Amino acid sequence: MIISIYTAEAQISTRLAYIIDFLNRHPYLPKNHEFVLNQPQADLSIYYQSRKEDLSKNEYLIPKQNLFFKPIAYDNIGSLIANPYVFSDKTLFSVEDIPARDKPFIYQNNFGFDIFEMIFFHLARYEEYYAQPQFKDIHSYLKEEYHFLCRWNLDKKPVVDMAVAAFLESLGITPAFTKYRNAISHDIDALLKFPSLYKTIRGFIRLLIIDGAIHKTWKYWSQYFEVITGNCRDPYDIFEWLLTNNKDLDKYLFILVGGKSKYEGFYSINNSRLKEIIVEAQKKGYNIGLHPSYNSSVQSKLISDQKKELENLISSEIIHSRQHFLRFDFSKTPQALAEAGIKYDHSMGYQNRIGFRSGTAFPYVLFSIKENRQLSLVEKPFSIMDTALVTEAQNNNQSISDLFNGFLSGIEIPVPIYSNFHNSSFDELRPGGRELTGKYHSIIQNENHL
Ligand SMILES: [Zn+2]
Repeated sequence: MIISIYTAEAQISTRLAYIIDFLNRHPYLPKNHEFVLNQPQADLSIYYQSRKEDLSKNEYLIPKQNLFFKPIAYDNIGSLIANPYVFSDKTLFSVEDIPARDKPFIYQNNFGFDIFEMIFFHLARYEEYYAQPQFKDIHSYLKEEYHFLCRWNLDKKPVVDMAVAAFLESLGITPAFTKYRNAISHDIDALLKFPSLYKTIRGFIRLLIIDGAIHKTWKYWSQYFEVITGNCRDPYDIFEWLLTNNKDLDKYLFILVGGKSKYEGFYSINNSRLKEIIVEAQKKGYNIGLHPSYNSSVQSKLISDQKKELENLISSEIIHSRQHFLRFDFSKTPQALAEAGIKYDHSMGYQNRIGFRSGTAFPYVLFSIKENRQLSLVEKPFSIMDTALVTEAQNNNQSISDLFNGFLSGIEIPVPIYSNFHNSSFDELRPGGRELTGKYHSIIQNENHL
């Protein structure tokens, strides 16, 4: 089935073409269905303009909003509204500048809002690209309270995927729902908790002064003595059970190579234990990926240098990557990753909560607003990160399990779940460490928990 989108613009917008490409790649679109632009011979026609009278049976209208497809930046992002639109038992949410209430998603072949711009806003991370410094944290990350989806309490809904499904159904196309492959990944930020006496003392000082956890003193030193006397493995060296054999999952292990900020440099890639871990991970079907260092988002060359170093170590090409601290400069990082030969980035998820930062659970091609073009880099967004899970559960006074299970059961359509668990998060001295350990075991043993 050919579905043609008609636009009267003399030049077809790159942004509209990007969204058409996204729809054509979306797993919900059944085989033998294709969206095309301005093609006269089509089975269905969708007019993309402000209005059109007398739509026939196979004709539809999407009201063109023209806020985010314009080359000039929309400057009032903080007051954008998620208006609810009803479609059978679901509610879809727009990104608009005027309020609307009790509107249907589709009425007499007229769609209620501009879903193309809504999808673009989320995928291109429009609000993050244009974010002003005063709304960012010390790591240059747009604080979550300013994220559109968080402001509207929609961060746990795959709003883009829900819109795609409702859009297809409105056109009489049954979405190709199936069971999707989930993914699990691990970033190795630190290989060991006690790599040296110096680091052990520094860790202790941090525990006392920064965490204020005097009551953990005894446990900290007993852990240390157990490790140095060889009675047990270092609390971060849990790879024996962290690396799973589960064949139903896509699996990734991200390795930090160098970096000189205070947030890294806790192990060398020539460490013999690291080499053993990589071999073990590869045996279990893991993809080895790069974890570009903290400053790689501002010094792009670091990405290609670190990629080469890791490739030399494992003697194969690296195509997967996730930024350390998820540090991402939308005007530089995706281009640098693509130029270095990375095919898949895995950085798009929230720091302090679980949910869908780009509104989708599926991989999608990244768009550069700066260069106004689609990049040759696929984003594989994650919805669950261990540290975010712990933080959000603590903020809500909730157990990790309740938050996790509530999140999964609240998702109204079939989507994959991509998650990230650090080897350093399960230490029983870390907040939520013990509960996280139990949850992780249940996830990898029974894939249905995901
Ligand atoms: Zn990291």
